Amino acid sequence: MVDSEKNITMPLIPLRGLLVFPNMVLHFDVGRDKSIKALEDAMVNDQLIFLTTQHDINVDTPTIDDFYRVGTTCKIKQMLKLPGDAIRVLVEGIERAEIVELVQETPFFKADIRVYKDISLKDKEVEALIRTVLSSFEKYISISAKTSPDVLISISSIEEPGRLADVIASNMTLKIEQKQQIIEAISIKARLEALYSILVSEIEILEVEKNINEKVRSQINKMQKEYYLREQMKIIKEELGEEYNPDDEIIELKEKLRKLKAPKKVKEKINKEIERLARLSPASAESGVIRTYISSILELPWNKQTKDTLDITKAREILNQDHYGLKEVKERVLEYLAIRELTKSMKGPIICLVGPPGVGKTSVAKSIARSLNRKFVRMSLGGVRDEAEIRGHRRTYIGALPGRIINGIKEAGTKNPVFLFDEIDKLASDFRGDPASALLEVLDPEQNKSFKDHYLEVEFDLSKVMFITTANSLSTIPRPLLDRMEVINVSGYTEFEKVNIARKYLLPKQLKEHGLTDKNLKLSDPTLSKIVTEYTRESGVRELERQIATVCRKTAAEIVETKKDKILVNSKNLNKSLGVSKYSYDKKNSKNQIGMVTGLAWTAVGGVTLYIEVSPMKGNGKLVLTGQLGDVMKESARTGLTYVRTVAKKYGIEENFHESKDIHIHIPEGAIPKDGPSAGISMATAVISALSGIAVSKDVAMTGEITLRGRVLPIGGLKEKSLAAKRMGIKTIIFPFDNLKDLEDIPDEVKDAIKFIPAKTMDDVLKHALVKVDKNENRK
Ligand code: ADP
Repeated sequence: MVDSEKNITMPLIPLRGLLVFPNMVLHFDVGRDKSIKALEDAMVNDQLIFLTTQHDINVDTPTIDDFYRVGTTCKIKQMLKLPGDAIRVLVEGIERAEIVELVQETPFFKADIRVYKDISLKDKEVEALIRTVLSSFEKYISISAKTSPDVLISISSIEEPGRLADVIASNMTLKIEQKQQIIEAISIKARLEALYSILVSEIEILEVEKNINEKVRSQINKMQKEYYLREQMKIIKEELGEEYNPDDEIIELKEKLRKLKAPKKVKEKINKEIERLARLSPASAESGVIRTYISSILELPWNKQTKDTLDITKAREILNQDHYGLKEVKERVLEYLAIRELTKSMKGPIICLVGPPGVGKTSVAKSIARSLNRKFVRMSLGGVRDEAEIRGHRRTYIGALPGRIINGIKEAGTKNPVFLFDEIDKLASDFRGDPASALLEVLDPEQNKSFKDHYLEVEFDLSKVMFITTANSLSTIPRPLLDRMEVINVSGYTEFEKVNIARKYLLPKQLKEHGLTDKNLKLSDPTLSKIVTEYTRESGVRELERQIATVCRKTAAEIVETKKDKILVNSKNLNKSLGVSKYSYDKKNSKNQIGMVTGLAWTAVGGVTLYIEVSPMKGNGKLVLTGQLGDVMKESARTGLTYVRTVAKKYGIEENFHESKDIHIHIPEGAIPKDGPSAGISMATAVISALSGIAVSKDVAMTGEITLRGRVLPIGGLKEKSLAAKRMGIKTIIFPFDNLKDLEDIPDEVKDAIKFIPAKTMDDVLKHALVKVDKNENRK
């Protein structure tokens, strides 16, 4: 295996902390006198020198026992004198050798050495060892940061296994003892085995090291980040002049929790969250989320409520104080409150105030709250289409918040406010869930005891809340919701009522808001009346209030500017404040007209009057309709026309007019789309008048649906329509007999001014509408 040659004598240098392998080139500095002498001796001979390694690097004057006996013979390639006495030597390792005997100690070491030559031998065992060593070495390189992967390339060309082991060992970061082990492994197999075992243990150590490193690094990273953030926070706090201590927060929260009156479950939940918060670093994102959550819960009025002070007399007073008129609404509300009081329960239907905008629905609800001494919150449902608006988002959602119900409760600060759902008829629904069904749960006394907001996660008791809803119309309220409600209609106001509301409520309110008194500005009834009729067109008084506010604003400005303390605003100079009048109510015709009838319609802004004009032309029986008419209205025009054919003869109308004439019906003032069947009798009357040439009375207005045989069917909104008629100066209203019961609702001032004539058939209508027929009939 190894060829042990005969002994040779060579100068020797013991190295400190350094070991040379055969075939390895390296340089080192020599400073010790003995070593320099050994070098010099080598240089004068064959430049060969035996290098071995000291056991202890700190021994300055070693003896034979201080160095390993096995080392490497080397050839000195270069010598360089360094400043001082030191010499830098470049050597190349040649072969392993072992000291047989030290032949000289001074002036330098000289030894008889035995040289071992590697003998290449590749049996299966060596082959297997090479493979395992190579793969371990690869692994070693992959973990160790100190050895460059390039080494793998350079060793791939090495054929001799002994040399391979040496090169690998020399490229590893090993202790001298380990390297010495390899040097002393004379047989190739033993060398490979020794190398393998060193590799395995090194790899193990490296792996442990790596794990530790990683742990330490991540720990340090986290600590550094926290440290950095905390330092930042400290500085911010310092800048703000506050002391910062994360524990203070936890203590404060716990204290708040202790004081909080809430169900046990809720307190447990908050406690859990506070504990969680305490465990988290105060600057982490999660702790922010938890903090917001805890404060949301802490702020809720879990057990706070106002004491109801219901006294029906007082409630009546308050309702009257806040509102003019609304007699029936007030009565209904008081009845409702009385029943609540008697049954001592919040169960039972929910009030739904239905009517056009600005008629005082919200303000009635506010008065209810006031008379019960409850807080008041309002939530508009108009356009709410996402269930989450009602119920909140789950906490996992970024930026999650409680729903608007819980928000409203928080705003109220008590668990029993009067909660107004405005515009329940405008509730929408789409893919984001069905807000109506969420609302249903909220309004259901069986379920709302344990209302669950997605964000809160804990149940909130809504059963003490008094819910009130409002709507403009009943038709779009989801049926199940409607079933829970007690509908109270709030209808529009007459001009007279509006003027009163303005004088008693809106004007004083606006004066106050603009810092004025009734000494600075007075508005007489005729002036208010002009504002109502020429600057507003609405059922309620919202626009009216706005116009009055404008007058107040202009007055205030003028007072400041001119230093006068009294400004005169009357119906003559009103346009200075409000501009030219926006609306002119149709004046009734000045004389009886042929083919022209005043109809009455009910639109979004309340009742309106409309002129229906009919003009027959030569043609072939076409019916032409113009003015913004809906389909139902067109249908009803056709029905009217058919009826006219059946009575043509009676009114002296050409019997085949439907073949020789085109009929053109026009309804001007198209700004407001008109639809519905209630103009039926008006259109039929106008056609008959136009074809027969008998004029229609200028004092008459009418409303009613017509059938083919001339019956008059009931319509809606008689009150609103009669208000419009009164504004126009109409003296007689012809209306369907079946609407007789509605006369009750008509304000007295309207009934005093207008004669109401119920009609069962078109004959009744025509009898009162047509001017001449009246006389003819009488004559007969
Ligand atoms: P709605 O809720 O029906 O749309 P609001 O309650 O908001 O109407 O009323 C609009 C304004 O008109 C409020 O300032 C309200 O006080 C006033 N108002 C309405 N009706 C009356 C009334 N009958 N008496 C006094 N003020 C009224």
